[in-house]
Amino acid sequence: MQPQEKAPAAAPQTTAPTRVFGFRDFTQQAAWDSEFLAVPDPQLARQHLKALTAEPHWASSPEDYDTALYVAARFKAAGLQTEIVPYSVLTSEPLTNLVEAFDTAGRKILSGPTSAHVTAEAGSSIGASQSDPRIISPFNAWSASGEVTAPVVYANYGRLADFQRLAELGISVKDKIVLVRNGGNYRGVKVYVAQQRGAKGVLIYSDPSDDGSHSGRPYPDGPFRPDSAAQRGSVQFMPIYPGDPTTPGIASVPGLPADDRIPVNKLQYDLPSIPVAPLSAADAAPILHALSGPAGPRDWQGGLPFPYRLGGDDSTPVSVHMNLVEDTQLRTIWDVIGTIPGSSDPSQWVIAGNHRDAWVYGAADPGSGTAAMLEAVHGLGVLLQRGWKPRRTIVVASWDAEEEGLIGSTEWVEQNETTQQPGEPHHTIAYFNMDVAVSGPIFTAAATPSLRQFLQEIAKEVISPAGGTVYQQWRKSEDHNRRISEGSITTGPGYPRFGELGSGSDYTPFLQHAGVPATDIGSDGPFGVYHTVYDNYDWFVRFADPTFAYTQQQARIFGLEMLHMADADVLPFDYQSYAREIFGYLIQARSRAAAKGLTLDFAGALNAEGNLEAAAHAVYQRQLAPPADVTGLDRALSSVEPALLIPEGLPHRPWYRHSIYAPGEFTGYEAVVIPGVNEAIDASDTPRAQAQLGVLVQALNRAVAALTPATR
Ligand SMILES: [Zn+2]
Repeated sequence: MQPQEKAPAAAPQTTAPTRVFGFRDFTQQAAWDSEFLAVPDPQLARQHLKALTAEPHWASSPEDYDTALYVAARFKAAGLQTEIVPYSVLTSEPLTNLVEAFDTAGRKILSGPTSAHVTAEAGSSIGASQSDPRIISPFNAWSASGEVTAPVVYANYGRLADFQRLAELGISVKDKIVLVRNGGNYRGVKVYVAQQRGAKGVLIYSDPSDDGSHSGRPYPDGPFRPDSAAQRGSVQFMPIYPGDPTTPGIASVPGLPADDRIPVNKLQYDLPSIPVAPLSAADAAPILHALSGPAGPRDWQGGLPFPYRLGGDDSTPVSVHMNLVEDTQLRTIWDVIGTIPGSSDPSQWVIAGNHRDAWVYGAADPGSGTAAMLEAVHGLGVLLQRGWKPRRTIVVASWDAEEEGLIGSTEWVEQNETTQQPGEPHHTIAYFNMDVAVSGPIFTAAATPSLRQFLQEIAKEVISPAGGTVYQQWRKSEDHNRRISEGSITTGPGYPRFGELGSGSDYTPFLQHAGVPATDIGSDGPFGVYHTVYDNYDWFVRFADPTFAYTQQQARIFGLEMLHMADADVLPFDYQSYAREIFGYLIQARSRAAAKGLTLDFAGALNAEGNLEAAAHAVYQRQLAPPADVTGLDRALSSVEPALLIPEGLPHRPWYRHSIYAPGEFTGYEAVVIPGVNEAIDASDTPRAQAQLGVLVQALNRAVAALTPATR
């Protein structure tokens, strides 16, 4: 399908296909785009996914290395300069995993965890794949090793508000084992809050009402979670810092002296000090059923067929015994990095990445992303053969150990940190992420505001398997987006919805540590097998993308992101929209402060935002008609996001330096905007909020100073 064969009338919104922001004349690029879009092949994507999901391949395993070789071979075949970059990083592996529960009479009601099991048809591949001895047993990476026995308290999703509610109801979690359900926030945050409140251990279970059998038919009959399947996952305190816990801010290169690492017994700011284990719905059910104490608030009731109680009855408690032993040690992981040097601006790097490691087979998470990325790379390879030379350098990355805590991407960013600074020999101008590229048909995107116009124009060029363009389908799915990301989405009249970049994938080190504008794309559907043994090839081809048409779509979008950013005449960053977003964030924060009765002065911040908007407007006009020599303009445009970094970082989490976007300290995945200010308002800390407004003013002033030379 050729995008420029579409009549302009098919995309009447803002931009005809002949005119794309950042290009003086789109004709030549449209021809390259057309050749590129013809390449990504559903059948090849299917082969990639089959190869990548053939064996369990958690980070640092021999099978993980095999997938690195597979990806490296495809990069080389496409003509990319390719290297496998190893890091020596801390990871944890479960050795002993025992969770027993006893009812109020002391009778044993659980000896677990029980391994996941579904009944498969005779001869199906499911039977063998769920009992492969290389499957890592369900565990929470970074749980402390330890043996504890304590009464159980149920705390709903383990959000800060849930713990506050328990306290209001007179139930303490001190010296208790807290049972919480997945959802509502990042699982590491559940542990972070429980531990701060004195809990002795945490059990995180998957309730059937969240992504399990109450939502629809469970696997293998449907896409939802079987009651026997627990969710693996990291409980690193990622909102404090991600990456190798022993090396915040520096790269864990092989041979790094031990003195340069934080000793393993001093990692309490980033890792739990208490044991944490996941449970399936089936294993959590007898505990929840036995709990006494007061009834839970109405919205704490999940999908198991009895009323949920809170526990906290200390005279005859339901108790749990946990005995967990984690083998935590330095292991080698492997990023695969492929490069196409730029022809005229080789110092400007455009980076696109997706992680490769999986908890088990990882078909959707992240194999769909890798399959799409490899077909995008396939397309770049065909263009190279036909004489295309990108203006800027393209770097394609297959990250390792994302599941443990964004480790492969974080270490690479920390190693290449000088490349984030304008004026250095190399400078990363944008980062494009995929992770779960496909779990269904609903296109979703999150992006820094500077890249929202850029991504919309690309979505208008790519056809959707559901009809029309991806852009048209994206606009149609606004209701879906609103449902999955309520409260974290900005909107403009007539535009599709964008999420804010919080955390939970590899864009975090780029945006929030290094100040690189970023996007993250997905195509979503019901994904109940997330982080289970059932996120496998069979699940993917039956429920996510049987024809690989959506994987092909994602390859096309991802590839056009690289092509457009690498080839644009002037960097297509829209700082007018960015400034207006910041204005909205300030107005929201001012209302929140007022609602809490805090007296804060927003005048300085609003004034600085106004200056940014004025400078951005002037620069935008020049971007529409770029001068012959764009060196100064590009330099200014790529200096804005780094200027928004706070040198000393956010309060008590200095690794996070971005003044506009961070993962919430108490949400984890979901973004908090102008985080220094909003988190101080949340804490009703007026002096800190006013001080953080001052820090924000300085950041906005630096952004104005970065843009000003390009306004004339
Ligand atoms: Zn993932």
